Amino acid sequence: MANKILVTGGLGYIGSHCVVALCEAGYEPVIVDNHSNARASVLERLERLTGRELSCFDIDIRNRAGLETLLQREPCQGLIHLAAFKAVGESVAQPLRYYDNNVGGSVSLFDAFDAAGGGAIVFSSSATVYGDVEAKSLHENMPVQPTNPYGQTKAMIEQVLADMVRARDARSRGLALRYFNPAGAHDSAIIGEDPKDAPNNLFPIIVQVAVGQRERLTIFGEDYDTPDGTGVRDYIHVVDLAQAHVKALTVLLSGGFDAPFTALNLGTGTPYSVREVIAAFEAELSRKLPQTMGERRPGDVATLVADPSAAMAQLGWRAERGLEAMVRDAWRWAGAARQWGLWDEDT
Ligand code: UDP
Repeated sequence: MANKILVTGGLGYIGSHCVVALCEAGYEPVIVDNHSNARASVLERLERLTGRELSCFDIDIRNRAGLETLLQREPCQGLIHLAAFKAVGESVAQPLRYYDNNVGGSVSLFDAFDAAGGGAIVFSSSATVYGDVEAKSLHENMPVQPTNPYGQTKAMIEQVLADMVRARDARSRGLALRYFNPAGAHDSAIIGEDPKDAPNNLFPIIVQVAVGQRERLTIFGEDYDTPDGTGVRDYIHVVDLAQAHVKALTVLLSGGFDAPFTALNLGTGTPYSVREVIAAFEAELSRKLPQTMGERRPGDVATLVADPSAAMAQLGWRAERGLEAMVRDAWRWAGAARQWGLWDEDT
């Protein structure tokens, strides 16, 4: 029988792609999602894409008793934990909400999972844990010093997980995956990034401009110490990211890590500026996108690029898709989402 894997936030952007990757690898995902940032139609589209009936439960991760009951009914050997609030600005305005949901929820979830027998835990962390660093590329033993409550919650959950799996009676092992900038969509165009609220990230904002939902794009600063003055990031295709989760889980389940806890960067190692991303969209669309130059966005850093070598060495994983594929797939997904009227209510 296939290993069951609990996926919290399994209806979200990264979670939905993880569910597909798990099915492809022969696992049986058990989705937990409270629908706080996912549309009702995601599950049905996931079932269409995977050709399977999927188990999905509307449980908040802070509901420890609910999780315990679920894990008794559906014993899971692994956990991919993605459920979280993720807006940096909102986390500054509402820190307690973030600590309660992200940190409190993770403690409740890890406790329920370990009490049910434990197993392999893969946690969705973020490059934001490195904070404002001056380095060409970031590797995992650089200091963790987040600069906002959202990043703090990710760093704290890593610590909670590390301490838990290092405890003498722990039955779990943990891996934190520090994502750089996820982008793109499944190449079927059946699932993709679909935030309920106004997006803050470059890719979905460019898509909104391209479909006419937003008048123009504002480039946040051209005076950074980067080749063209605009911010430089490490964009990673969401399908590559999802496959890394499955690799991580498989390695953990086969006892492939010596340490009870490990943190790994997930990026491509290739830097792209804001201007280069816009140019890639304009090439895909064969037209210019309306844009203006704006001020730097508070809290932004000049450059955030991964040193992805540890993930290669420890998981045998490397990103295979480049910027062109991210742009093409994001754009195809936008076409499908509009055709189905998914975004009509947002206009
Ligand atoms: N950015 C921009 N205009 C926007 C949104 C983002 O110029 O409307 C820039 C941002 O300053 C950064 C890059 O695009 O340099 C990636 O930002 P995003 O919010 O996607 O990810 P972050 O790296 O901040 O998590």
